[in-house]
Amino acid sequence: MNDTADAAVPDSGTPDLDALIVGAGFAGLYLLHRLRGAGFRARVYEAGGGVGGTWYWNRYPGARCDVESLSYSYQFDEALQQEWEWTERYAVQPEILRYANHVADRFALWPDMQFDTRVAAAHWDADGLWRVRLEAEGRAPETVTARFCIMATGCLSTANLPDIPGRNSFRGATYHTGRWPHEEVDFTGLRVAVIGTGSSAIQSIPAIAKQAAQLTVFQRTANYSVPAQNRPLDPAEVAAVKADYRGLREEAKTRFGCFVVDLPRPSALADSPEQRVAEFERRWQTGGLTFMASYEDLLYDAEANETAAEFVRAKIRATVRDPETARTLMPTNVIGCKRLCVDTGYFETYNRPNVRLIDINEQPISEITGSGVAVEGEEIAADAIVFATGFDAMTGSLKRIDIRGRGGLPLRDAWEAGPRTYLGLAVNGFPNLFTITGPGSPSVLTNMMPSIEQHVEWVSDCIEALRDRGATVIEAERAAQDDWVGHVNELADASLRSTCSSWYVGANVPGKPRVFMPYIGGYPAYAARCAEIAAAGYEGFAIR
Ligand SMILES: Cc1cc2nc3c(=O)[nH]c(=O)nc-3n(C[C@H](O)[C@H](O)[C@H](O)COP(=O)(O)OP(=O)(O)OC[C@H]3O[C@@H](n4cnc5c(N)ncnc54)[C@H](O)[C@@H]3O)c2cc1C
Repeated sequence: MNDTADAAVPDSGTPDLDALIVGAGFAGLYLLHRLRGAGFRARVYEAGGGVGGTWYWNRYPGARCDVESLSYSYQFDEALQQEWEWTERYAVQPEILRYANHVADRFALWPDMQFDTRVAAAHWDADGLWRVRLEAEGRAPETVTARFCIMATGCLSTANLPDIPGRNSFRGATYHTGRWPHEEVDFTGLRVAVIGTGSSAIQSIPAIAKQAAQLTVFQRTANYSVPAQNRPLDPAEVAAVKADYRGLREEAKTRFGCFVVDLPRPSALADSPEQRVAEFERRWQTGGLTFMASYEDLLYDAEANETAAEFVRAKIRATVRDPETARTLMPTNVIGCKRLCVDTGYFETYNRPNVRLIDINEQPISEITGSGVAVEGEEIAADAIVFATGFDAMTGSLKRIDIRGRGGLPLRDAWEAGPRTYLGLAVNGFPNLFTITGPGSPSVLTNMMPSIEQHVEWVSDCIEALRDRGATVIEAERAAQDDWVGHVNELADASLRSTCSSWYVGANVPGKPRVFMPYIGGYPAYAARCAEIAAAGYEGFAIR
């Protein structure tokens, strides 16, 4: 811990809150529980009408997790993980949302959460407090003061809508997968256009196709997808996990992505073509994200990567009957460079007579009209348009808040050339501000539940440590942040993951700086570094 010679912070009196938490997703819920338990006055403000974050907003048909439910869940409370019953290997959105509500009930979190309230601004004041402006429809804006401001705003919570000419002129219904209505949407008998073929599209397209009279999918980039092989959970399997849940969780923490899959073989190139295909096939049949764990070098050696890519292309070729459609669906970039998708019957859906695929590289969308989508040479009539166009990932929600640090520095300016953080947890120039799963942390490259828990516990322990030593202000030092950013970039440069236009680098949002945002060194190395820094008295932080 470095005490700084900075001018002493004047006594700020008692703030309204010790800690103000933005967001009531899994990060915000656990933060509230943990900070309250440590004796802090904490309160959550959430723009949505309930808890769950991602699982509150993403109600589209087919939405489910792609890390197995037994791992994609909290582990901080043994009784909670013992009592909750997941019904499927990959839970559907309504079940995950029920789980979030159960957690809020079980830990009596409701009285300290305020919904339908957007945090519009957070300004660090010379008196050493955050002044946070809250906006709620139908109410006058309100300002709350807090010693610490913790952004649990989510990596994937700001919907990205493409700027297609005429978008507002469409007379039918429009939806974004990440802002899906609460009431059921029935596409029966309708002509539906889905724009986008990322993860949400790949989950929703098979479900929408079953209802729609006609479904037209507009694809910019073909994506790799592996089957989920989803199934109901076998009670014996669940009992075996619960008999040693802690053991599973501890083993997960030794794995890159913080979930347990079969260990990778060393090199795809060291195996014979027959061995390789057998290994890929075994993983394909197992289902889910285990596929990318087939070999250690898949994300580091282009030739090794191509063997896995070609295996998936062969699967597409064998599944999709129309050769032209199959060709269009076959990705040509590095597999795993964009987030690997996990599906249930995605490629098979293109064999349905009511489904058509349009490659917008060949037939660019010129405009959305009152009655459909116009591409070069043709107008496709639609009664409904689904934008499955993803998110302004990792920085979108933070930059939408008017965050101002020391000397009134706007976060938007500090991050103009891309996000800069220390550990993805703190930002130089922004004292007493923490970001849960912020850019520069493993976040979206891992099972996010344990990554969230690791951050929540680190932040909560840090605030307790400050209290214990009578300090009130902590700030990441510039040099430590620069070193961390350099380390994050160096790791990213060594991986094939940073080589394509993905949302990891902000490529899906026009004008967004191209920076590989998550930390790519894996959960174990990252968590160890965070622990060392804390044990060394919060090395790289200035404290006063
Ligand atoms: C469809 C989908 C499927 C996913 N599946 C998986 C999976 O299988 N495994 C996995 O590890 N991860 C998955 N993720 C990632 C997922 O986002 C995380 O696992 C996790 O739910 C994030 O929790 P969080 O609390 O950090 O953020 P979120 O759940 O995003 O919650 C953030 C909350 O902050 C609120 N907020 C933001 N800004 C403001 C503001 N200014 N004022 C007030 N409130 C604000 C938002 O409304 C939101 O409710 C998935 C994401 C999506 C979109």
